[in-house]
Amino acid sequence: MLLFPQRFFPRCLAGLLLVGASFTALAQLPSAPSVPSATLLRPAAVFDGQVLHAGWVVLVSGSKITAVGPAAQVAAPAGTRILDLANQTLLPGLIEGHSHLLLHPYNETTWNDQVLTESQALRVARATVHAQRTLLAGFTTARDLGTEGAGYADVGLKQAIDQGIVPGPRLLIATRALVATGSYGPKFSPDVVLPQGAQEADGAEGVARATREQMGKGADVVKVYADYRWGKGEPSHPTFSQEELTVIVQTAKAAGRPVVAHASTPEGMRRAILAGVETIEHGDNGTPEIFKLMKQHHVALCPTVAAGDAILQYQGWRKGQAPEPARVQEKRASVEAARKAGVTFAMGGDVGVFPHGDNAREMELLVREYGFTPLEVLQQATSGNATVFHLADRGHVAPGLLADLIAVQGDPTQEVSSLRQVQLVMKGGVVYKGATEKLSR
Ligand SMILES: [Zn+2]
Repeated sequence: MLLFPQRFFPRCLAGLLLVGASFTALAQLPSAPSVPSATLLRPAAVFDGQVLHAGWVVLVSGSKITAVGPAAQVAAPAGTRILDLANQTLLPGLIEGHSHLLLHPYNETTWNDQVLTESQALRVARATVHAQRTLLAGFTTARDLGTEGAGYADVGLKQAIDQGIVPGPRLLIATRALVATGSYGPKFSPDVVLPQGAQEADGAEGVARATREQMGKGADVVKVYADYRWGKGEPSHPTFSQEELTVIVQTAKAAGRPVVAHASTPEGMRRAILAGVETIEHGDNGTPEIFKLMKQHHVALCPTVAAGDAILQYQGWRKGQAPEPARVQEKRASVEAARKAGVTFAMGGDVGVFPHGDNAREMELLVREYGFTPLEVLQQATSGNATVFHLADRGHVAPGLLADLIAVQGDPTQEVSSLRQVQLVMKGGVVYKGATEKLSR
C-alpha cells in the first residue's frame, strides 16, 4: 500500500461486476470439457520475454509449452487444436509485481475505512472479482504485497484460485506486512486501540517470531515497512533498526523466502539494502548513492509510479490541466537516478490504489512519462519479474515452461497501448479469454 495523507468520499461501485462478460474459464469448472491434448497458437509474432520473432508459432500440450519456433519447424500432432491469432503478438503472461487484491481504489473508499469498516467477507468477495479482472487483463501472475488489515485472507484466496474455484492469477502472497509498533495505521485518538493494517513486531526476538508466524500461515514473501510516517502529514522516517531488518531477512532466508521492503527514505532504503532485501517498493526519495548501493547489492526497484500518480489525482491534481506537482517531478528524478545507477527494475504498480485490471497503467506511465521503451517495460513485466521473483517456470516463451500466454492486438514491443487490447489469456494451458479455434486436419 502507498498511502498519502488524505480524505476521500466513497463512490458508487457500479460496474464492479461487468468483467464477467468475456470470461470463459469453463475448463476449470467440474462439468467443463478438459484441456485439449495439444494446442497450436499461430500469432503474427511471438515476444519470447526478451525479443520479438515474426512468424513464430507456439505448441502447448497440457499445462506446458512444448515447442516454439518458425511455423515450418513446429510440427503439430494430429488432432491439435489450432488458435489463429492474426495480427496479434503472443507473449508470456504478464507478471504484476505489486498488487493488493484485498484493497480497492481509495477514491471509492479511503484506506482507513477499508481497514476499519469493511468486513473480511466483503473484502474477500471483492478480491475474487479483482483476481478475475487481473487475469483477464493479461496478468497471469501477481505478487500480492500485503492484505492491509484483512489478516490471512490472501492464503485462502490463493487456494481458491489454485483449486479453480475462482479465476485469477497465480499468486505470491505476503500475508500481513511487518511494521514497527506505532508506525502504521489506522491512527485516530491515541486513547483508542485500533486494528492495524499490518502486523506490529519489535526487537530481534519479536520480528523473528512474527516472520516465522507469517511463513507458517502461508507467506511466500515477507513484506516489511522499513520506513513510514509516524504522524499525519509528516514525511516518512525509518522504522525498524538495522538489526531488526537483518533478523527478518535472515529468518526468511533460512526458510527460502525473500523479503521485500516498502521504503522511500534514503536511510530506510539503506538499512533494507544492507539487511539483504530483494526488492524495494516505491523508493521515492532514493539518492544516486543509495541507488548505487542497490546496484551493488543486486536489489531491484519496484517504482510503483502509477500509485503516486493516482493518489495525487484523488487529492485534486487535475492531470493534463494543472502543473505537475513537485512529487511527480521528484519521482521522475529518482527513477532517472536509479536507471543511471543501473538498478534492475521490477514492474509493479501498487494496484489496488487504482483499479485491479488496470494493471497496464504502470507500464503506460513508465513509457509515456518516465522514458522507458515499450520493449523495456515488457521485458520487466515478463522475464524480468520472473527472474527477480525466482519464477523459473514462467516469464519466457520456451519449451518446458508453463503455458501462461497472452495475445494482444498489434506489437506491444513498439506500442505500449497494445497491452490494452488483450485478445487471449491462457493460464496453464486453459483459455480464460478469447480465441476462435479450429481443429487441425
Ligand atoms: Zn503497496
